[in-house]
Amino acid sequence: MYCERGASMLLNLPYHVLMALKNQYASPEYLKKWQQKRLKHMIEHAYRNTRFYHQKFREAGIHPHDIQGLSDMQKIPLISKDEVRNQGADSLVAQGYDERNCEVHYTSGSSGKMLRILYDSENHLYESAIAYRYHLGQGVRPWHRYYLILHDEKELQDTRKRSILHRTMGVAGDLPDEEKIRLAQDYNPHVMGGHLSSLISMGKIMETQQIDSIRPRILIVGGELSLPAHRRYVERVFGGATYDKYGAFEVKSIAWECRHHTMHMDADSVMVEFLKDGEPVAPGERGEVVVTSLWNKAMPFIRYRLGDIGVPSDKVCECGRTLPAMEIIEGRLDDFIVLPSGAFIPPGAVVPLFLSVTQVDQFKIVQDKKDSIRVQIRPGQGYTHEIEQGLIQKMKEVLGEPVHIDVEHVESIEQIARGKFRAVISHVGVDLSHL
Ligand SMILES: [Zn+2]
Repeated sequence: MYCERGASMLLNLPYHVLMALKNQYASPEYLKKWQQKRLKHMIEHAYRNTRFYHQKFREAGIHPHDIQGLSDMQKIPLISKDEVRNQGADSLVAQGYDERNCEVHYTSGSSGKMLRILYDSENHLYESAIAYRYHLGQGVRPWHRYYLILHDEKELQDTRKRSILHRTMGVAGDLPDEEKIRLAQDYNPHVMGGHLSSLISMGKIMETQQIDSIRPRILIVGGELSLPAHRRYVERVFGGATYDKYGAFEVKSIAWECRHHTMHMDADSVMVEFLKDGEPVAPGERGEVVVTSLWNKAMPFIRYRLGDIGVPSDKVCECGRTLPAMEIIEGRLDDFIVLPSGAFIPPGAVVPLFLSVTQVDQFKIVQDKKDSIRVQIRPGQGYTHEIEQGLIQKMKEVLGEPVHIDVEHVESIEQIARGKFRAVISHVGVDLSHL
């Protein structure tokens, strides 16, 4: 079975790569027609072949015939991670698809409950083509050595398979930084990828030990909040340019930054909506990210809430790609500080205040209530009461509303969870109508 799939992959891959490369320069009308055709097909398929969507459509009183165009999308109810988990993720798996004819991935969310995701072979092919497309768009060439830090065991195994498109060395995210540095020195990569926090952690040791032999040209970062201060730091230590990437296991690649630093969405593979009060927001406004896969028939995700906050953009990129643009993801719903008025403060507005103070070793901002915030700080050398008062004052200015701020001095702080940097955690429920 595997060999059969391997052979068909080799035969079909060039076709999918050509299609993906062509689509990135297609006219907006062509992309819209493409999305519409695939969407209709996916909805019909999901309704006929999955328990979950059949029931969902019936409960909402709609039939696939009611969805004739993209504007009819809003008739379809949104689905959430919790709903998928409660119903059992297997109810999303379409008849005729199982572990024997699909790629399988297990992912754990913030709740810690595992979600099994199936991808059919055609989806796998197009995702491979899309990965080739964005790597090419970021300056990666097939002969480049790509050093990739991964926190997911399955992805790590996949990098060990031979690929005609990429030459990648997967590095386990949980290895000690010294070992990661040694591997990078041996491999001498043109390209490095991983979470920004992993690269920062390596960079700090490289700076202390004056290691300057790791000089990749390209740094592909993603999977966590992308703060300009963090990007500038890794660019300085490693010497390459950083490019961001946004994706989710449920739908794979969603958007990526080209060499002109525009985040292009893979509109031929996934439909992205940015919603507020259930309506699409205008370019430049914040909305909740809702995705629909246009390829994966094995396990359709239709109008699926990812739990991220993003901003669509009407930017026309100089690179000539017509794939629509979005601004960089501002964070997950629970990364935002919610003020007494209901207004939101993105983590990117407060985190740099602390990053810029060298006397702060580590920090974390925890919000338990709308009018009260705890800032945990591990003081570093030279930390003083005046510095602390200055930080509180600056934070109050950013928040702009009366919020009580308590500072706790602690011995150590867990800033990284599952390989991701999280400096703000809000336990206050986010009301999306106030976005
Ligand atoms: Zn571009």
